[in-house]
Amino acid sequence: MAQLLRIIIILIGVWLVLSIIKRALASRRKSRSHQAAISKMVACDHCGTHVPESEAIRDDGRHYCSEEHQKQART
Ligand SMILES: [Zn+2]
Repeated sequence: MAQLLRIIIILIGVWLVLSIIKRALASRRKSRSHQAAISKMVACDHCGTHVPESEAIRDDGRHYCSEEHQKQART
C-alpha cells in the first residue's frame, strides 16, 4: 500500500515537472514571436524589400535582404 502511494506521488511529481516545462516553453515561444512582431523593419538597400532588422544582413550601416543583394550592391 505504501508502495502504491509512492508511485502516485512520483507520477504527480513527473506530471508537475512536465507541466512546468510545457508552460515555460510556451511562454518562451510567445515572447519570441512577440519580439519578432515588434522588431523594426528595414528596407533592402538593393531592391527595397522590407525585412525584419534581425533577419537583415547589415553591412556598413546598410541593410540587405540577402547575401546576394549585399554582394550585388557592393559591385
Ligand atoms: Zn534585396
